[in-house]
Amino acid sequence: MSNKSSRDSLPAWDLKDFYQDIHDPEIQVDLNEYKNGMEKFAADYKGRVGSLTAEEFYQAVRKIEDLSVKASRLGEFAYLNMVTQMKNAEAMGFYQNISEKLTDYSKPAIFFSLEINALPDAKIAEWLRNDKVAFYKPWLEKTRRFKDYELSEEVEEILHEKSVTSSSAWVRLYEETSSRLKYYVDGKEYNDAEISKLLLDKDPEIRAKAGKELNRVSRENAPLFSLIYNMVIKDKAIEDVKRGFRQPVSERNMAENVKDSTVETLAETVRKNYKNIAHRFYRLKAKWLGVDKIQYWDRNAPLPFCEDAHYSWEESVKIVLDAYKRFSPRLYDIAKDFFDHAWIDVPPRDGKRSGAFCASATAEMHPYLMLNFVGKQNDVLTLAHELGHGCHHQLRTKNGDLNEYSRMTSEEVASVFGEMITFQSLLSQLTDDKAKLCLIASKVNDMINTAIRQIAFHFFETRCHEERKNGELSEQRLTEIWLEEMRASLGDSVNVDENSAYIWLQVGHFFFLPFYVYAYSFADCLVNSLYQVSREGTVENFPDKYLDMLSKTAITDYDKLLAPFGLNPDDPDFWNKGLSLISGYIDQLEELDKKLKL
Ligand SMILES: [Zn+2]
Repeated sequence: MSNKSSRDSLPAWDLKDFYQDIHDPEIQVDLNEYKNGMEKFAADYKGRVGSLTAEEFYQAVRKIEDLSVKASRLGEFAYLNMVTQMKNAEAMGFYQNISEKLTDYSKPAIFFSLEINALPDAKIAEWLRNDKVAFYKPWLEKTRRFKDYELSEEVEEILHEKSVTSSSAWVRLYEETSSRLKYYVDGKEYNDAEISKLLLDKDPEIRAKAGKELNRVSRENAPLFSLIYNMVIKDKAIEDVKRGFRQPVSERNMAENVKDSTVETLAETVRKNYKNIAHRFYRLKAKWLGVDKIQYWDRNAPLPFCEDAHYSWEESVKIVLDAYKRFSPRLYDIAKDFFDHAWIDVPPRDGKRSGAFCASATAEMHPYLMLNFVGKQNDVLTLAHELGHGCHHQLRTKNGDLNEYSRMTSEEVASVFGEMITFQSLLSQLTDDKAKLCLIASKVNDMINTAIRQIAFHFFETRCHEERKNGELSEQRLTEIWLEEMRASLGDSVNVDENSAYIWLQVGHFFFLPFYVYAYSFADCLVNSLYQVSREGTVENFPDKYLDMLSKTAITDYDKLLAPFGLNPDDPDFWNKGLSLISGYIDQLEELDKKLKL
């Protein structure tokens, strides 16, 4: 471990694999090709999809796939170019301009899925007897899954066009406003990423100031954010009702190809584990912090007796790659590519979006990873996480763009698993009991944030969407629901009061991806179950079977994906198996705590 890592020498990504820069003339060429291609596609096929032979249908699908690749490249480039420079008006404008054009140009092809969905099953079955069409079976099934929820072509067209000024506009207002928020602690100005880092400070006073400031600024902006949230929910509800979705969560579940009841089982099973996992852990944590109750913002606070480990970028890369290699040399080969090319944007910068993500434009093109690396232990695990996403993508390049829709519940599997093996690798190198306790405690902290907290979020948004049916939710009502869900999940050892009442508006997923949050818990519990199986050693060639599973996550049902591991997501015990990994770690923490007499 080194004492410092130089921010200047941290790698940045190079987006030239897309275009030279936003003035590259190729951009206009591609935009034109996309626009003309879509128009020609409509001229060639509109009104006659049902009369196509299998071969002709295959040709049409190939054309639309190529065009969608073009659009994805343009859209992703504009997005990635923007996220590292959110204060650059030209980059922001470019993104908005490209997004609007792509939405506009994609319109002529709306008929395609509508016409496919109007066809009888027998016609689809006839096409599928052709091997080339059969390749697209996962895409066809996904398209047809929504057929009973589609509206007339005219209405679909209007909804499509209006999305730029309705749902997308609210999301944009949310994102732009939150990225401009300023926080002040001891006279110094911070952005949201920076102030969140203060919550991890060793000094409880600084954490308290940061925690209260986060809530103060949130409260100050609550009128606007409450309005945005009410609009986001209503906008979705209008469409849901017209389309005939049973519950607000249903559309997401259908896109995930997960039954409503499976998600309910997950959420309820997690709720039943609040006490055994979250409450028990925070009781220990309060004791370690020397208080009866920990403050809301201290949930992730570092333990006073734990050393502040710092990792340079080079060390972090080595730790993660070694862990990947130990699990599977094949996975290592895929992962290594990310460091041999300029595919990762590592350092935090002013105006750069906070957090971390992996973004991929098309099935065949490599993804890019965005980080905000400052060298904490968590940054090492974040790297392992995003790299997991990256490798997952690289395992699926052969599936084709139309088949490779992103399914959020399985999108998080490779990333969480990557984190898990990196954590185990870090743990196995430790001999000192206190160091072990520190590492496990920090992992359990994260696991609770993912498996438990995201379900508390899920209950929050479920209730908001439900109550919104009866009219707008006031600022006060939103904070009430928030506080109730936080208290239930965190337990008596955490102080949840008016100083954390407005933190709900910091949860971006509520705004830009309603009902996404449960996917984190879903994936975490799923990975934990898989990880338990790999530890039990009952499945032969686990790493190969696991990588094989990853290559098919978007094109196969969960039942089939998990069958080689003897797991079934409709069985409540499946979720408990995953959760028992966390409670097992808490057992270890209690033992270590006794042994160390902390
Ligand atoms: Zn992720």
